[in-house]
Amino acid sequence: MNIPLVDLKAQYESIKDEIDEAIARVISNSAFCSGQEVEKFEEAFARYCGVGYAIATDTGTSALYLALRSCGIGAGDEVVTVSHTFVATVEAIVQTGATPVFVDIDKTTYTMDISKLEKALSPKTKAILPVHLYGQPADMNIICFYGEQYRIPIIEDCCQAHGATYKFPSDTVIEKKVGSIGELGCFSFYPSKNLGAYGHGGMITTNNKRKAQWLKSVRNHGQEKRYYHSMVGYNSQMDDMQAAILNVKLKYLDSWNQKRREIARKYNKLLGNSVRGTPVEAPYSGHVYHLYVLRTSSQAYLKGILPTYNIGVGIHYPVPVHLQKGYEFLGYKVHQLPVTEAVCETIISLPMYPELTDEQIGYVVQRILER
Ligand SMILES: *Cc1c(COP(=O)(O)O)cnc(C)c1O
Repeated sequence: MNIPLVDLKAQYESIKDEIDEAIARVISNSAFCSGQEVEKFEEAFARYCGVGYAIATDTGTSALYLALRSCGIGAGDEVVTVSHTFVATVEAIVQTGATPVFVDIDKTTYTMDISKLEKALSPKTKAILPVHLYGQPADMNIICFYGEQYRIPIIEDCCQAHGATYKFPSDTVIEKKVGSIGELGCFSFYPSKNLGAYGHGGMITTNNKRKAQWLKSVRNHGQEKRYYHSMVGYNSQMDDMQAAILNVKLKYLDSWNQKRREIARKYNKLLGNSVRGTPVEAPYSGHVYHLYVLRTSSQAYLKGILPTYNIGVGIHYPVPVHLQKGYEFLGYKVHQLPVTEAVCETIISLPMYPELTDEQIGYVVQRILER
């Protein structure tokens, strides 16, 4: 048996005809950068997330960077986020000229520890950027509360959480999709994400019309109309081929996420009695399991042994951003992030994709329990 961490080929096989047709259509129209397919996908994705506007970009990193810039964030400002994330979250903040300020993570959900959030806020804070890591929303109710109290926007990093939901505790429980909760939501369509392109792609979601208009212009050379540029912008557009593919895949996203949830439940059940550290779903969260991450004291052992049985594993992520060489200038010694630093050494990601079979799940679990 050969069980990769992610199997993009299995998914392609399941929707091959539709994908091939979409790609052929773009090629035969030779409308590679016309924006027609992009516009269709923007409308569909905005509707899916329950927001007024969706602005497609070339990558998730661009989405984060431009979302920050749309809030006027730059040199001298602080943006509060987490260090336990893919580097792009922090990279985007640094690229604006602002300083990232890190909050430690919760040791069971691996998302921003809201009990430590207020201490990180200062008069220089211009935004809070929570990450819905592994497919689990951060605790948005509390984060939005501080956003309102300090009058600062919330920018959601949804790059690992397409379709995840957050339940607000209130009389009638309100459930919202990530990307529709803060001022702006940022998505990546990197191939291995829950909704993945066949190349790079990204999206910003918002209900703010003024910001949406600014973003549409800035991602296209600051263009007002063709060859008329009212500001200095970027070339951060999505191309039509990716949009056409994503349009096909979007309608399957909920069923794929449902499969991921079922697979997580099966892993939990089979591992449950012998392995502590299976993922914890917070009561507010509609987790979509971008990754299935075990917490274990046998990280090194499992990382070494599972690949010898042709089982793909990963560590997301082995080094937190504040300890990365390129980010030394942030002064890692000043950060008090004990949970972030401890988690890196005890996590391991197991194979997770919607097409994973019961037999494959059983095989992975058997190899883990064999020790
Ligand atoms: C994938 C990812 C990004 C960046 O997305 P790209 O499309 O690769 O630029 C940002 N943040 C997180 C948490 C991610 O997982």
